[in-house]
Amino acid sequence: MRHLVLGLLLLAPLPAAAGCLVALDVGHHVDAPGEISARGVPELAFNQALAARVQTTLSDAGIAAVTINADGSLRDLAERPRRAKAAGASLLISLHHDSVQDVYKSSWTWEGVERAYSDTFSGYGLFISGLNPGFDESRRVATDIADQLRKSGQKPSLHHAEDIAGEGRTLLDDRRGIYRFDELAVLRQASMPALLVEAGIIVNRGDEPIIGSDAYRAKIAQAITQAARAHCRRVE
Ligand SMILES: [Zn+2]
Repeated sequence: MRHLVLGLLLLAPLPAAAGCLVALDVGHHVDAPGEISARGVPELAFNQALAARVQTTLSDAGIAAVTINADGSLRDLAERPRRAKAAGASLLISLHHDSVQDVYKSSWTWEGVERAYSDTFSGYGLFISGLNPGFDESRRVATDIADQLRKSGQKPSLHHAEDIAGEGRTLLDDRRGIYRFDELAVLRQASMPALLVEAGIIVNRGDEPIIGSDAYRAKIAQAITQAARAHCRRVE
């Protein structure tokens, strides 16, 4: 009898573990889809495609992951960290694509439509919040992601640290492109370590097709997966 009970217990589904789980947040929503690329594609579409790639790569690596706002319908920013917590996430990664201030933008015509662009800056950026209770772990994960990205040939863009209107963010690590931005709502309100990834600057005409390629998304996904693996070893 005891063996039977033990057997049934072993067959029972595992409870939602307090272990490692990565929540991916698709930045923006259908009514406010973020930046518009040099060729007129809303940021939300880039964020969705990248999240799908990261989710698959994490799952293939055996790392538990959930995607929040996959369909882009979630309007409430506070709901994102709330859902991450409800899912039992040990880490929240918000996925975005970047732009620059208007002062750097010019216009060109793409497929008959005038579009804004700027080729001035190029590269990724990582943001963490000093108001997040898991600041140290957030920074560790950001450091690992940056190291993986740099290993695969990517460079950070430091334009958010420029002393101009709309920027002036604090660079914690200029070699790795890690910024501190305390007020970012999704990071500040998260109860678990959290970071925001700006995967690339989609108003840059040369970068946009690269950022939209599967090869580029794979690099980002691999970098996040490597960093998540190290995070999981720390929390499990
Ligand atoms: Zn964004």
